[in-house]
Amino acid sequence: MKAISFYQPGGPEVLRYEDVPNPRPADGQVLVRVRACALNHLDLIVRGRGPAPGLPWPHITGADAAGTVEALGPGVSGIEPGTPVVLNPALSCGQCKYCRAGEQSLCRSFGILGRDARGAMAEYVVVPAGNVYPVPADLPLCEAAAAPLVFMTAWRMLVTQAAVRPGERVLVVGAGGGVATAALQIAKLLGATVYVTTGGPAKVSLALALGADAALDYRSTDVVAAITDLTGGEGVDVVLDSVGAATWESSLRCLSKAGRLVTCGASAGQTAEMDLRVLWRKQISLHGSTMANDREFRDVMGMLANGKLRPVVDRVFPLIEAQAAETYLESASRFGKVVLEV
Ligand SMILES: [Zn+2]
Repeated sequence: MKAISFYQPGGPEVLRYEDVPNPRPADGQVLVRVRACALNHLDLIVRGRGPAPGLPWPHITGADAAGTVEALGPGVSGIEPGTPVVLNPALSCGQCKYCRAGEQSLCRSFGILGRDARGAMAEYVVVPAGNVYPVPADLPLCEAAAAPLVFMTAWRMLVTQAAVRPGERVLVVGAGGGVATAALQIAKLLGATVYVTTGGPAKVSLALALGADAALDYRSTDVVAAITDLTGGEGVDVVLDSVGAATWESSLRCLSKAGRLVTCGASAGQTAEMDLRVLWRKQISLHGSTMANDREFRDVMGMLANGKLRPVVDRVFPLIEAQAAETYLESASRFGKVVLEV
């Protein structure tokens, strides 16, 4: 099969479009013919550092994919070859106390497709049978592939961790990134008033078109002052911040009393300082979140399948142009997902 493989960590130049042996589904696995694979920053991190220790070279990244079931491994039933599916990129052991409690993203050996196993930037990939979710035949597979990682992450953050209620005010920091763009849509679906920050007038327009009640250009706006103004001095109930150190302080200052801040990443700085007095004086809560459990994955994919949520695809590249696609992923002008068509 054709795949995007690499033999050592490095920049986009290490990626090769080449023939590699087809994977075979083992016990409990499904072989999927990949039709679309969406990129995530995770792909760049794994390309730069290499895959999880113990995995053989060459490695193939790719966490997010959609395609059709090609073949079933021994012991698998209940899904027909040819079925269009989207993949759950979360890998879990199924046996530890967290998995038994249905909290797969807390699994003691939690992994992600493309980092802890060979990924989907290829014509075929094998995944556990529980990791395929059927999608309607009329859902474009490039859109389906763009959904799992960012929508499952944003869903757990807003629905489970921050428990957003209708009528609450939510600030999504950094709309344009995948998780933030998914979060904007989910927060609207939950009945919240949604404010976003983003960089530049073009992205402000795109965020408003996606349903944001207000979009603040952080390059030209005092975000804290604007949020104070928009909320009559109260601040927002929930802030979703996956940016990190660069926005941590202003995110805290945007919170109302008893507000909740939820984070899933720190792409712009991993170490932040805070005045701890703010925690108790405002009685705020901090929530960390990673990916999603199986139920949350099914819940949010159900919303995708019935058209209530729609991934934002910025640009589609053919698989052979993976180098260019990964370079584009890092460009500041991007709004939404970058997808490889396979
Ligand atoms: Zn487990």
